Amino acid sequence: MAEPLTQQEVDTWRLPVPGGALIVAPLDRLTQWARRNSLWSLTFGLSCCAIEMMATAGSRYDLDRFGMFFRATPRQADVMIVAGWVSVKMAPFIRRLYDQMPEPKYVIAMGGCASAGGPYRDSITVVKGVDQFVPVDVYVYGCPPRPENLINGILHLQERIRHEKALTRRGAPVPAREPVIIGGEA
Ligand code: SF4
Repeated sequence: MAEPLTQQEVDTWRLPVPGGALIVAPLDRLTQWARRNSLWSLTFGLSCCAIEMMATAGSRYDLDRFGMFFRATPRQADVMIVAGWVSVKMAPFIRRLYDQMPEPKYVIAMGGCASAGGPYRDSITVVKGVDQFVPVDVYVYGCPPRPENLINGILHLQERIRHEKALTRRGAPVPAREPVIIGGEA
């Protein structure tokens, strides 16, 4: 479920006025809350892992309850889920899509192939991990990872955003982020 603001938090923002109360909240906190509960993911799947990604968005796992749904354009997407192996020829196009996404943007590497090449690690035509051309925030391991595992990765990403500074000056350098690694069934 999309995470609500806590009652305790709202209480600290309550400002009594004659006849009622006003809520005066820090813009930074509200922006961060809205951001992590409305992550839009770029629509694309590369191979077998993409089927699990699609299942995660289906009615059984219902990704919408986390405020997340797929968007068919990089210009309005917050998260790129790289689901499946990436060929060397495909990598520059994924990088181009990443560059077209607005900041702040996040990347989830879903499955052994996207994380480290998987069973194709020795192939000269498959990239040995998407971190070679885009910065990865969350690695979700498994071949393929189950939808629960992907959801776990998304929750970790939301937790990371909770501790980020939401408002930054335009053009300011984006601080480096350490990736989160989610284990799974091999
Ligand atoms: S990790 Fe497994 S399921 Fe996912 S793309 Fe690679 S081979 Fe397919």
